[in-house]
Amino acid sequence: IVELRDITRSFPGPPEVQALKAATLTLDQGEYASIVGPSGSGKSTMLNILGLLDRPTVGEYRLAGALTGALSEDERAAVRAQFIGFVFQAFHLMPRRTVLDNVLMPMLYSGVPRAEREGRAERALERVGLGHRKSFFPGTLSGGERQRVAVARAVVSDPRLLLADEPTGSLDQRTSGEVMELFEELNADGLTLVVITHDQSVAERAPRTVRIADGRLSEAS
Ligand code: ATP
Ligand code: MG
Repeated sequence: IVELRDITRSFPGPPEVQALKAATLTLDQGEYASIVGPSGSGKSTMLNILGLLDRPTVGEYRLAGALTGALSEDERAAVRAQFIGFVFQAFHLMPRRTVLDNVLMPMLYSGVPRAEREGRAERALERVGLGHRKSFFPGTLSGGERQRVAVARAVVSDPRLLLADEPTGSLDQRTSGEVMELFEELNADGLTLVVITHDQSVAERAPRTVRIADGRLSEAS
């Protein structure tokens, strides 16, 4: 589903920074891979490119068989909405909206009728074990619950690819484990998953681990 070929991403300087250097990565449909590396190694740059939030300076990115380089910004946004879900370290929930409203937000302008949006959001919340929290506000939930709400929001539109950038970075060990178990369940249901982390113990839960150091990828065996 993902094919990155010799991707370089440079940020103009001075000094110019090459955050990714000739990175090549292929992910099959249904695969679960972690990308692990220290701070500043290029992890977020990688996720932004995978998620069509940023463009490579050099190289080709093929997503679900289609080259992405020639797409306009509108087309990229449409592909993102249809194919990709995101989970971030800091949850990014809207504090003044209920849990249910947060989860149905990605469908707001999708043309899905309101009743169906709510039904899908409720099912996504049940899937992450938080059906009973739908009327709560995010501020009243624990960190782990908030991240599970963010996961429900990321999968509510049934994406083909889920990208998580340090999803356990704000959580303690036990709660991290719960979120990782949830990812494993979603992957078992067929979702292609990329978890980006600097935490080796989180990375090792994935069947495949890709290391990144100073912008270069290498496969861990
Ligand atoms: P962390 O674990 O701290 O989040 P990271 O692995 O996600 O780090 P990136 O954010 O991808 O690292 O950054 C990789 C390199 O690219 C760093 O040297 C960073 O300073 C540089 N970089 C990232 N974004 C930009 C930008 N917009 N402009 C200039 N340099 C950038
Ligand atoms: Mg980062």
